[in-house]
Amino acid sequence: MTSAELIFDLIAQNTTDLVCIHDLDNTIRFATPSSNTILGYSPEELSGKKLTDFLSNDFINEMDFNTLRRFFDHPGSRIRYQVKHREGRLLWLETTFTKVGEKGLDEFEILSSTRDITESVHLMDDLMAALAKEHELSKFKSNLYSIASHEFKTPLAVIQANIEMLKVKSDRGLLDMALDSMEEEIDKLNAMIADMLQLKKLTTGRTAINPIEIDVVKLIREVVETDLRKAYPKFKVNMKFNEEAETTIKGDLSLIRYVFSNLLGNACKFSDKKHIVDISVERGDETVSISIKDYGIGIPEEDMPFIFRSFYRARNVGNISGTGVGLSIVKEFVDLHHGNITIDSKEKKGTTFFIDLPVKM
Ligand code: ADP
Repeated sequence: MTSAELIFDLIAQNTTDLVCIHDLDNTIRFATPSSNTILGYSPEELSGKKLTDFLSNDFINEMDFNTLRRFFDHPGSRIRYQVKHREGRLLWLETTFTKVGEKGLDEFEILSSTRDITESVHLMDDLMAALAKEHELSKFKSNLYSIASHEFKTPLAVIQANIEMLKVKSDRGLLDMALDSMEEEIDKLNAMIADMLQLKKLTTGRTAINPIEIDVVKLIREVVETDLRKAYPKFKVNMKFNEEAETTIKGDLSLIRYVFSNLLGNACKFSDKKHIVDISVERGDETVSISIKDYGIGIPEEDMPFIFRSFYRARNVGNISGTGVGLSIVKEFVDLHHGNITIDSKEKKGTTFFIDLPVKM
């Protein structure tokens, strides 16, 4: 061997990249032994094949194969693609093509150099996922700030106004009125803060579930008697259920209570003139199904696809207060119980929420 041949042999035997020489048709005529590590095939097995023969099915399905092939035929291009290793695992490779034909090797057209970039592609994917999460989180924070500066300010302004009024005038009647109004605003503030805390727990994956036996009918009655009677005393709540039916489920009491409290509160809050809420509880084979129906402002069709997103509020809410957080929490809590929630709503006619909760979690 001449010393030039020796040097060539040394490089070819030891390169970690896969170097191939292709003929005019792009068929591999020579490959370095690194083909054993990169693709799991020996240089002899690679000879007569094309790099496109190793593409993974998923990758081919995602691209137009003819366009893709053109990149492989194009000297000067650098492409990233997914292949299937002989052992079945999927790899990402990066190949650069160089034209070599005019250098006197007429039957050889192209030299390719291929590197396994699987690890860096996965690292990139992880980085992108972390960035997307970070983006979500910063969107969440900015939504939170805008809500805090708007929705939280209103109750505080009402409380402030009442205090100012009491400083000037403080007869018994006014005092009672001011105290009631302040208490109402403090309740609203507390509810909003509780929602924000629940959402934060959910976004940081810290919502704990403590499953116990819950009698759904009893729990709804308790929510109606405590939460609704106080905030919406004028409302008539009709409850339909079969006394004989077993309506006990396994679930987390505080999460399930939150679901009913939010849905019933919304049913009243978004009711227009008709102060009626109809509730039905039915026992199915493996679920307890609850429906909560109101005759209020309804949800416009265009808003329906987004209604479970946090901070989303339909365009017809006008000046009815709220943060758009409650319903997204309700959906998460129902999902955590492997339940299901759907809505039937017509603008200006009313809304019905249907919730199915598995008897066993
Ligand atoms: P909010 O703090 O506004 O009450 P929610 O997250 O509880 O937020 O609900 C999100 C949005 O869904 C509401 O702003 C409203 O547009 C719509 N919505 C929820 N329940 C009802 C309902 N019963 N009737 C009409 N619209 C509703």
